[in-house]
Amino acid sequence: MQSQVVLGIDLGGTKVLAAAVNEKGQVVASGRKRTTGVSTRAGLLQKILDAVAKTMAAGGIEPSEIAALGIGAPGPVDRADGTVLEMPNIPVGRLPLRAELQRHYPVPVVVDNDVNAGTFGEFWRGAGRGTRHMVGVFVGTGTGGGIIIDGEILRGKTGITGEIGHIVLDPDGPECGCGRRGCLEALASRTAMQRRVEAALRDGRKSVLLDAAGGDLAGLRSKAFAKALSRGDALAEEVIRDCAIHLGYGAVALVHLLSPECIVFGGGVMESLAPVMIPVIEGVVRERCLKGTAKGIGILPAKLGDHAGVLGAAALAMKELGTLSA
Ligand SMILES: [Zn+2]
Repeated sequence: MQSQVVLGIDLGGTKVLAAAVNEKGQVVASGRKRTTGVSTRAGLLQKILDAVAKTMAAGGIEPSEIAALGIGAPGPVDRADGTVLEMPNIPVGRLPLRAELQRHYPVPVVVDNDVNAGTFGEFWRGAGRGTRHMVGVFVGTGTGGGIIIDGEILRGKTGITGEIGHIVLDPDGPECGCGRRGCLEALASRTAMQRRVEAALRDGRKSVLLDAAGGDLAGLRSKAFAKALSRGDALAEEVIRDCAIHLGYGAVALVHLLSPECIVFGGGVMESLAPVMIPVIEGVVRERCLKGTAKGIGILPAKLGDHAGVLGAAALAMKELGTLSA
């Protein structure tokens, strides 16, 4: 049993991705399963177990070679017993993930929030590698964040830290998914961008975005914005710029509160638009931060894409085992 691996799992509303990770932080095998339409606990657990089985088959890994399991789930987690309290995009209620996974794999299992896992992945092997203080901001359908100070995920009293998406930037602003108004997420997320485009088209603005989305704005992906931008589309440019400016305001709050070495921006919107958005965010940070506070702070695009979550989940499990390498 000389080549043990840790399994990292990233559970999401559309898919579950599993990966076998060695102690150097290399993904030696991976497997995925779709989770769309899954509505029962048993069904969801089966998808997770299938993704793990696929990974083990792909890497020729025996159960005895698994040292631990780490899993990131899209919702708040009670880390004491490894239970996911709720998942807004996977409506199966409370899910005792650690207990369920340990019935199949009797090894240490670490359950954490998916954004914390993604942040820790970027910190360990991605854009934040080599730092001690980092914030991860993930911009997709929603906007979430994770905070690492002195190499540890900041948890606070309730464990629900890093909710950067619900920093209020405009008390009278658009309604947020949380039911309140003017949160960062309501101004800077794919959902917010889509809503801006819908409103502008209703007002008679012209844009190639409707074509880029295949005629249905509900299917408007971040890639379509990048494509429209490359065609010189004024509305796309405006919406992308405003989104980046608001992310910049969010980053200013993070710099002032936490003084991180870097803020890493990931998620679907960034994967398509980081080259345009990062300089705008950086500009806002340089302009709006108190003198001296933003000096030397990196505003960086995430590096690991889809692998941030699985690597981070595996790393959090290694941390628990005491085998996490620098
Ligand atoms: Zn909100």
